[in-house]
Amino acid sequence: MESARKREHTADVLVLGAGMAGLCAAIAALEQGAQVLVLEKGTRFGGSMALSNGIVWTFAREADVRAHVPDGDPALQDFLVANLTDSLRWLQGQGVELQPDQIWLGYGRGQEASPPQMTAALVDRVKALGGAMLCETAVQSLLTRDGAVSGALAFDAQGAVEVHARSVILATGGFQGNAELLARHVTPYADFMYLRANPWSTGDGLLAALDVGAATTPWLDTFYGHAMTAPPARFNALQFQDMSHKYGPLAVALNLEGRRFADESAGTGEETLNTHIARQPQATAAYVFDAATADRVYDGGPLARVVIDRARQAGGPVAQSDTLEGLAHEMQAWGFPPTQVVATLTSYNAALTSGNGKQLQPARRGNPFRVVRPPFTAALVRAAITFTCGGVRTDLDMRVLRRAASVSMLPLLKADRDELQTGVIANLYAAGCDVGGFSTRSYMGGLAQALVTGRVAGAAAAG
Ligand SMILES: Cc1cc2nc3c(=O)[nH]c(=O)nc-3n(C[C@H](O)[C@H](O)[C@H](O)COP(=O)(O)OP(=O)(O)OC[C@H]3O[C@@H](n4cnc5c(N)ncnc54)[C@H](O)[C@@H]3O)c2cc1C
Repeated sequence: MESARKREHTADVLVLGAGMAGLCAAIAALEQGAQVLVLEKGTRFGGSMALSNGIVWTFAREADVRAHVPDGDPALQDFLVANLTDSLRWLQGQGVELQPDQIWLGYGRGQEASPPQMTAALVDRVKALGGAMLCETAVQSLLTRDGAVSGALAFDAQGAVEVHARSVILATGGFQGNAELLARHVTPYADFMYLRANPWSTGDGLLAALDVGAATTPWLDTFYGHAMTAPPARFNALQFQDMSHKYGPLAVALNLEGRRFADESAGTGEETLNTHIARQPQATAAYVFDAATADRVYDGGPLARVVIDRARQAGGPVAQSDTLEGLAHEMQAWGFPPTQVVATLTSYNAALTSGNGKQLQPARRGNPFRVVRPPFTAALVRAAITFTCGGVRTDLDMRVLRRAASVSMLPLLKADRDELQTGVIANLYAAGCDVGGFSTRSYMGGLAQALVTGRVAGAAAAG
């Protein structure tokens, strides 16, 4: 059989991935006069950005980051806060239509874009500036010469594509699509989790970088996502938002043993509770609430009543009853032990009635809402992952650090940033979700991270 011939390309800057980070990086490199090639694994450009809500936000002040995201890399986080406003102006200059500045959740600042318009505008801009883009071309590994990165090996339907480049930017969007990496780093129940993102971000950037000696951040176990309506519900990628149960922090969350497992109200939003669900059996939980909570207004999502209606329409498991015993009986069909469910809800109500939510195990510190006004509702949800928060370690120019030149990030002996190595992998940059250290156990925005890091990586790689 005749084997397919390897095809070769050259570029000044090779960008791996055409989502938010990759497209911004490509434009920034083109603005510096570089010749740019973008390789995209998916059948379309835009990655998870195209599926997103389009809210480009992060914290307004560094002090708020410290309060809400206590771990992570403070230098990177502060860099993001400091550079968002200017980067939003730059984004607008590329033809992306942005709504006026807004405050989110009392501490976030940013602007909203339409994801289809943003994707089209950024792709058009890359092409208008002379950038080349190949779809359905998946990068598998990096090429090196004398320890420096010199290009990448990719595959398309015809076979191997070898690209030789002065600089390479990893922008493949994280490793949330890789069940084996999730099982290794995030949860033994990875197989049960939903992927709430594009299907192509399977850790190729991280694995390729590790192969050439890249250092990783701590926090490889952390991720962002929202719990979604459990099977047998059927829905597609454009319904990720509708199927997300963002009211979770108002509800009581029970695992399949009928017990609470987290302070539902903790963290920046439902994304924090979702990370706890991922570590419960079958990555599954029930959100239980009463008629008052069904209509409770909160920051960040639609009323619980609205989400429940959508879940039902998609065939998702929803139980309702006028008594806690009746609700527990219905939940038995999902595998919950009814006696334990009633016991948990009764002691939860009693503790909040006497103002002792903090003494519950686990404590309930915020949203002191009891489950007392019928009808009572339970929605079965599964943890879902949008993007992983750990990744390769970079400096503030988004240069990827070399593992052998790095020092420990463990808390006891953690080095100050200026004690850290200057050992970078020559010619290798990273952006977006491939970079770790921004969001960790709490969330500081995904699009903003991709915009700011993409822009910096592109300019640095071209420079
Ligand atoms: C439903 C949903 C709602 C969201 N809402 C918001 C929001 O309102 N605000 C916000 O800040 N964030 C939001 N996000 C998150 C945001 O979309 C991501 O944080 C952002 O897109 C990350 O940018 P990225 O470039 O790193 O990854 P992506 O935009 O996903 O791009 C990565 C690209 O790399 C490609 N790729 C992967 N592997 C390879 C390979 N081997 N070779 C070549 N290409 C490869 C992928 O196909 C993809 O196109 C949302 C995400 C989803 C799914």
